[in-house]
Amino acid sequence: MGMGDQVGADGLLYLLRAEPTLAPEAPADCSAAQMEHRREGEVHACLRCGARAVCAYVADTVIGPRWLDLCPRCDHWLRTTSTEGS
Ligand SMILES: [Zn+2]
Repeated sequence: MGMGDQVGADGLLYLLRAEPTLAPEAPADCSAAQMEHRREGEVHACLRCGARAVCAYVADTVIGPRWLDLCPRCDHWLRTTSTEGS
């Protein structure tokens, strides 16, 4: 995945809802410790740009919870550009 094919924040969330299999499966009732381990104890690629992710979220999808891993840049981008939940 290159820098040229990035999608918008809503697009990313929409894509995740439409194609939840793109994201790895998350535990059903994810604890804070599991979130922390995901962020700090493991290395994952940012779902949007492929850089090293430092943030982990759990997204509820039709097939269950999925990890949403983001690098600092994309995390900031998601927080500042998403219109979801506002
Ligand atoms: Zn990123």
